[in-house]
Amino acid sequence: MSKYIFVTGGVVSSVGKGISVASIGKILKSRGMCVSVQKLDPYLNVDPGTMSPYQHGEVFVTQDGAETDLDLGHYERFIGVELTQASNVTSGQVYSSVIAQERRGDFLGGTIQVVPHVTNEIKRRVREVAEISQAELIIVEVGGTVGDIEGQPFLEAIRQMRKDEGRDNVLYIHVTFLPHIAATDELKTKPTQHSVNELRRIGIQPDVILCRSDKEIAEGIKDKISLFCDVDKEAVISLVTSETIYEVPLLLEDAGLGELIVSRLGLRAGKSNLEEWRDMVARLKAPKEPVIIGLVGKYVGLQDAYYSVREALCHAALAHNREVKIEWLDSEELDGMADDKLGQVQGIIVPGGFGYRGIEGMIKGAKFARERKVPYLGLCLGMQIMVIEFGRHVFRTEKVNSTEFDASSAYPVIDLLPEQHGIEQKGGTMRLGTYPCHLVEGTTAARAYGTEVVYERHRHRYEFNNHFRQPLEEAGLVPSGLSPDGRLVEITELRDHPWMLACQFHPEFKSHPDSPHPLFLGFIGAAKETLVEGAQTSLPLN
Ligand code: GLN
Repeated sequence: MSKYIFVTGGVVSSVGKGISVASIGKILKSRGMCVSVQKLDPYLNVDPGTMSPYQHGEVFVTQDGAETDLDLGHYERFIGVELTQASNVTSGQVYSSVIAQERRGDFLGGTIQVVPHVTNEIKRRVREVAEISQAELIIVEVGGTVGDIEGQPFLEAIRQMRKDEGRDNVLYIHVTFLPHIAATDELKTKPTQHSVNELRRIGIQPDVILCRSDKEIAEGIKDKISLFCDVDKEAVISLVTSETIYEVPLLLEDAGLGELIVSRLGLRAGKSNLEEWRDMVARLKAPKEPVIIGLVGKYVGLQDAYYSVREALCHAALAHNREVKIEWLDSEELDGMADDKLGQVQGIIVPGGFGYRGIEGMIKGAKFARERKVPYLGLCLGMQIMVIEFGRHVFRTEKVNSTEFDASSAYPVIDLLPEQHGIEQKGGTMRLGTYPCHLVEGTTAARAYGTEVVYERHRHRYEFNNHFRQPLEEAGLVPSGLSPDGRLVEITELRDHPWMLACQFHPEFKSHPDSPHPLFLGFIGAAKETLVEGAQTSLPLN
């Protein structure tokens, strides 16, 4: 039987609830426990797949093809688990299935209500993760903050779980924020007291309070929170803003959270073993020579949109003992200034994206990389951009395009597959999730991976158009990764270039700090050898 930890948020959002959940998972896994994780998102969308990155940040894709919240990326990177669709539940999914049951007549004429019907469906989905994963411990994060209207059914459902599963099998952790008042140099506990009151009002007494703050939390402040919120002092845990997110598991472990959870839930756990992680964090924090990567995208003002890409670059750079410095280049502004800006970077990356806006700037990035022999890594849209740019060069016309951006292009080098034409619905109509890819011997891709078959995650509608394969190949574009039947081009690279490679999938989702992704490793390896224009020697430290 599984035990459960429910993590709620109070005071304000963006205080690192997702990172805290990932860190709790990490510290318990390091004690030899089998852990799984789930995120409950109270919004009404069925999934974040159709939401704008401005609203939601990155969409994280699981191996089984679910389009999920970016917190699942933290969980996978920290804990080293592979999650599934069941690990992200939204109100949209819960209400859809309750209404479908009602239409089928499953409720035998009863009145359908939030309690118990909606809350039962939420609880069923929480238990489903326990069943699928067979994990001893399930950590469940409730999205949003206490007091949100749409979050209420979720809080009610997790309240009921303690009664259903038994007092000793459920633990509630509340993550709050202590604002710092500069004038008096004080951390304030009142917002925490209010949010704990709000939780209690709906019947949840937290067992642990994680207090995020930008300053050290004095003992007196902890005493106060302990008294007013009726939580043991040892269970008031401080979470001071750290230099890197990967330090959070260490801070929480050192603050005694691991021991506390083990004893409160009576878990059969081994001794904590975070030594390798500790060593990784120490290397991460040590000063290192930078490697400068230009990321050409249209959401660069909002770095959450490229969360996994940023992390994957950081993991690979660490393995090369470098610190990645990302130049965020807005693809819509890369006009006359392109060469100046691109001349200052050691590698160019074009990440995923949808829609026409910003495409021409990305094509400029790819052209610069090809002509000046700057290392290039294209991710999904970034591969399509590389193929379009090379096509324009080979066929000597700007008419080369993807039919996503120019439906009547005379040279549609990227197109829907014949069987996809006519599909109009936007949600749930993409190639999603893990597919195998065979690597062609002797290519940069095969060398980077050092294996023959790889499994990578996809999220796209358009594909390389085989009609143009032969002329592009003859001109020097190498299809170095193919679907098992050879029909889909999954990786392209350039023959006459030190390192220009792009993939139709998203390798960034599989990079972990302690196991960087081979393509990112190869890319950073090539970039660190590249001098920025005008530089005489290798770069100085910061
Ligand atoms: N817009 C492109 C497609 O749908 C690429 C998608 C992506 O980069 N994730 O095929």
